Amino acid sequence: MEALGNTILFLIGIGLIGAVITVIVLRITNQNKIFSSPQYKYFVSQINTIKHNYDAARPMVRVINVNRNSKAQVERFNHEQHLMLMFSENNILHTQYAQMAVALQTAYNSYICAYRALVNQWNSVRISTAEPIRNRIDSAIKNAYYVQNAQSVALCKLVCSYTSPQARTRCSNAFYLTVGNFWRLTKEINSGRVRKQRAEYERSLMTDKLRYQILCRDKHRCVICGATQNDGVKLHVDHILPIYEGGKTTYENLRTLCERCNLGKGKSYDYTDGAYN
Ligand SMILES: [Zn+2]
Repeated sequence: MEALGNTILFLIGIGLIGAVITVIVLRITNQNKIFSSPQYKYFVSQINTIKHNYDAARPMVRVINVNRNSKAQVERFNHEQHLMLMFSENNILHTQYAQMAVALQTAYNSYICAYRALVNQWNSVRISTAEPIRNRIDSAIKNAYYVQNAQSVALCKLVCSYTSPQARTRCSNAFYLTVGNFWRLTKEINSGRVRKQRAEYERSLMTDKLRYQILCRDKHRCVICGATQNDGVKLHVDHILPIYEGGKTTYENLRTLCERCNLGKGKSYDYTDGAYN
């Protein structure tokens, strides 16, 4: 009786082990079926080609290291300002970055094009594909869309760091310059340049002749307080709308002010004050 019981237990054990092995073997066969299916192989190789082409075409992320003398300096470090200064002082470098940004955008555009074509191709055969294979290709294609957009891809990594003399304290602060941020900074640098150039131009228009014409028109007196040189004040010819706020060096935008009124007005201006009488 006991021997029979043992035999039954033994058979059940063998049966369980057999079942487990069968499940494992079936799974492996299934996986192999997916991986060796021509469709799966085709789409995976297409995805790899697209990714490879993109990685080969886009510029490498440059790394810029900046050292500071204290932890506080690292914390205060303004990465964007540093980059703006770097670019505005070095035109060649700025041009290089602009070329990198364009190259990156171009590489990205072709990547997206190829990716969309692949998705279309997949959609046209998707329904006729066996479900397990279909699921695998679906997720492979979904994962291939790994670049959100070129604007958010970095051109450089700017690392500001501080290391104490005995290397006891070390801290750093990293910043990625994306294509989007690069164009924004470029715009700021350029508009600053344009503003500066315009201001220089407007100042150059202020000739002695024009200055004299304005003084004559205003009868050699301050248009605000009426003081003249006879009162011992120095007369200035002033821009009513200041140059840095877009004012021009024209007859209409100029007026005579005494030194006190001119310095007293600071940055404020008033058109009614500029009315001539
Ligand atoms: Zn005055």
